[in-house]
Amino acid sequence: AAMRETRTKKTKTVCTFCGVGCTFEVWTKGRKILKVQPTHEAPVNAISTCVKGKFGWDFVNSEERLTKPLIRKNGRFVESSWDEALDLVASRLASIKQQYGGNSVGFISSSKITNEENYVIQKLARQMFETNNVDNCSRYCQSPATDGLFRTVGMGGDAGTIKDIAAAGLVIIVGANPAEGHPVLATRVKRAHKLHGQKLIVADIRKNEMAERSDIHISPKQGTDQVWLMAVTKYMIDHGWHDQEFINENVNFFDDYKEVLEKYTLEYAETHSGISRETLIQIAETIRDADGTCILWGMGVTQNTGASDTSAAISNLLLATGNYRRPGAGAYPLRGHNNVQGACDMGTLPTWLPGYQHVTDDVARAKFEKAYGVKIDGQPGLNNIEMLKAIGKGDMKAMYLVGEDMALVDADANHVDKVLSGLDFFVVQDIFLSRTAQYADVVLPGAPSLEKDGTFTNTERRVQRLYKALPTMGDSKADWEITQEIANRLGANWNYSHPSEIYDEMASLSPIFSQANYEVLEGWNSFLWGSHDGSSTPLLYVDGFNFPDKKARFALADWVEPHKFPEEYDLHINNGRMLEHFHEGNMTNKSNGIQSKVPDIFVEVSPELAKERKVSDGGLVRLVSPFGAVKLKALITDRVKNNELFLPMNSVDKDSAINFLTGPIYDRRTSTPAYKQTMVRMEVLSAN
Ligand code: SF4
Repeated sequence: AAMRETRTKKTKTVCTFCGVGCTFEVWTKGRKILKVQPTHEAPVNAISTCVKGKFGWDFVNSEERLTKPLIRKNGRFVESSWDEALDLVASRLASIKQQYGGNSVGFISSSKITNEENYVIQKLARQMFETNNVDNCSRYCQSPATDGLFRTVGMGGDAGTIKDIAAAGLVIIVGANPAEGHPVLATRVKRAHKLHGQKLIVADIRKNEMAERSDIHISPKQGTDQVWLMAVTKYMIDHGWHDQEFINENVNFFDDYKEVLEKYTLEYAETHSGISRETLIQIAETIRDADGTCILWGMGVTQNTGASDTSAAISNLLLATGNYRRPGAGAYPLRGHNNVQGACDMGTLPTWLPGYQHVTDDVARAKFEKAYGVKIDGQPGLNNIEMLKAIGKGDMKAMYLVGEDMALVDADANHVDKVLSGLDFFVVQDIFLSRTAQYADVVLPGAPSLEKDGTFTNTERRVQRLYKALPTMGDSKADWEITQEIANRLGANWNYSHPSEIYDEMASLSPIFSQANYEVLEGWNSFLWGSHDGSSTPLLYVDGFNFPDKKARFALADWVEPHKFPEEYDLHINNGRMLEHFHEGNMTNKSNGIQSKVPDIFVEVSPELAKERKVSDGGLVRLVSPFGAVKLKALITDRVKNNELFLPMNSVDKDSAINFLTGPIYDRRTSTPAYKQTMVRMEVLSAN
């Protein structure tokens, strides 16, 4: 072993910092990470990476890693053996199940753990507790995009590959900032725009980097993207710029949609979204003239009260203009976490079994019932938000949560704090003692991606293998092993000795994965799900849309005005990512290479507002919403305009984290919090 530690080991891994799915070799010696080496064989990124993928890995050796299970005794965490912790978890969960039924337990899975680990968590819920109360963090970001796509085209993934985006004549980005959130994908768009004449339209309140590069940048009023999208669609249809032939062959409900569109005139759109008629016409003309349009969207769309319907309006526009079923066209929801796509694919959702087989589908359920040897509830379970409500009402007694910092990422964090304290029994599995873990009765130390084998699925539906580069730290274990230990203590008889066996079981039950296995995925190979025969497919819907008649459907959804706040809350606060940080910052805050570059948190204030309210650069301000308050330094920048504020979301501190301002306001269809619809008032506390 000593010999081996002196040698440099090179291991293929998949980046964990965003949904682009870059792969590279990580060079290690013992536990030391020497460097990250990209290679031409990487299907998504070849020799590119961004700052996070290159320098973001110190966290795996952080002294703050959990290395032993913790049990709360007399209000304090005490280190314990695995046996003691797992026995306690199993016995408490079993007794709660016995007393209150399986539906009194909730399961929250993670988009940071592997596909296999997600699969076993939903299996634990469905097999050992006979409950569909299982969800993942897509509820906080991408569920509305998935919903909008399922209603229109029948599947929830990106229509083509990331490479295909470069082939589009026009890219429209709505409510996203890929230059910081999905850097390597953004590089492809930048290159196509600069070198190959690709047109770029960006709809975002903030003048982010992509907006600066765009041909047309619009800043629609908060929560009105659906209005301008529908107005552009109507204008194009009225002028005969739609693709009638494509619609005749491929799409249902066109006449009904035209009726819905009736009121979405340019005047109506201008009044509600603030985008001028001329600009709307220019957008319509640009779509008309483009050879292929891809629409990319992110949380500026999906974290709103009308998020699902806006996602459907995006897909409707693409259907009306024949922009599906070919490379360089189609819908591209930008998945945030590296495995948010995979977590959903694996069925850690209250409505879907693995492979997008609906829990209400009797045939699909029967297949899982046979495999799991239990009855599976034919009704959807509770989502994250509903679980919190059920805890508040006393209906949910226990929760098993893996790799999710709910107390920080859920909206209205003050309320979440209260609710989590009300659980009878709470198990948190993570690599750090997260804010959420502070509420746990038992904390189980999982392992980060570099310490395990498995697969991740990126935003373009590409499944890729990661190989174990480092031994697990201390007594921590791969997350699938921990879940298996819990299941077996509850009477299951799982015998997985490697994630490949879990993958095989999943694939045998999921038609869209039927031709995927670890051999197909060996090395730099990958697999893109989405074809009807279960083979790999870069392009979705080649053999028709995912409905029985193979035809897509226009979703008939009207726009509804966004949530109204009392007038005293006069400033809109937006939030989003920073290039250097991973989401709420739990991991990147512990990476010295990153933290030294951007240590501070701030709120962006426009020069106009700063002048009017006498805010100085670096001065302290207090922001108050109906749900909480935070204190921050002001950063005066023209990236924001007028009464718009912007707060990066990577704070873990109660005094500065965005979710101490956001409230219990949700997307109407999926319960995704409308984080982007938050209004505050500002008090100036001190000059710089
Ligand atoms: Fe990692 Fe995303 Fe950066 Fe690629 S673009 S290196 S996947 S964070």
